Amino acid sequence: MSKMFDLTGRVAIVTGANTGIGQAIAVALAEAGADVALVGRSAADETAERIRAIGRRAAQVNADLSTIAPIKGVIERTLSELGGLDILVNNAGTIRRADAVEFSEDDWDAVVDTNLKSVFFLCQAAGRHMIGQGGGKIINIASMLSFQGGIRVPSYTASKSGVAGLTRLLANEWASKGINVNAIAPGYIATNNTAALQADETRNRQIMDRIPAGRWGEPPDLGGAAVFLASSASDYVQGHILAVDGGWLAR
Ligand code: NAP
Repeated sequence: MSKMFDLTGRVAIVTGANTGIGQAIAVALAEAGADVALVGRSAADETAERIRAIGRRAAQVNADLSTIAPIKGVIERTLSELGGLDILVNNAGTIRRADAVEFSEDDWDAVVDTNLKSVFFLCQAAGRHMIGQGGGKIINIASMLSFQGGIRVPSYTASKSGVAGLTRLLANEWASKGINVNAIAPGYIATNNTAALQADETRNRQIMDRIPAGRWGEPPDLGGAAVFLASSASDYVQGHILAVDGGWLAR
């Protein structure tokens, strides 16, 4: 059974892997056997060290994904440094908070360009390679706001709802080509991204009260879902948005 989850010999790209969910997913994929290209605008030295300590290879690829300019180079560097590309995890993401009536164009573009536009063009670039080799695995990081509206985060909600739709569209186009396109929708996970919410006593209590599991998620809670969707265990899973949320959506 463990063979189904074995990623030995596979090469993965994880974006935004220097911290938080991306770091935990990169380490989990390496623990399952994958070599990992760590793509982002900040150095991912700690993640690279942890991957090498497991005995897998790590490559660091500098890329600011607020534009699509670096994407061609990201794929080329991964192929030249790690010798393949089997798994893409689109994790890098950002958020801006303001009332809808005051929301600026800059706050719209910054979030949608990183969370949705770059995600699509990374899928396209990786997809071209994966179609050529007859298969691959793409995992997009969605959100509870792929299902719910949220408040004061219009560009984030639009981008993460878009990620869910895009995941289904790409699954429809590429399932027959051996590519699985799925998404993970994390619930409330303790990372930099949610530091403000954790620090707000009232919001923190409201959130905790609504989570059936009774706690915030931790980044390693996402590792199992990522390995599943990256491995042959999920070969017949297509266009699915897998919530890892301590039961939040079940309420
Ligand atoms: P995080 O700790 O803030 O990590 C975000 C990652 O994205 C960082 O590596 C960050 O790099 C990278 N990133 C942001 N903008 C980028 C850009 N323009 N170019 C390249 N990399 C960029 O947050 P996280 O919670 O782990 O978030 C990871 C993903 O999970 C995001 O897509 C987020 O929307 C999603 N998510 C998180 C939660 C949660 O509760 N935490 C819930 C649902 C979904 P820097 O360090 O350089 O900024």
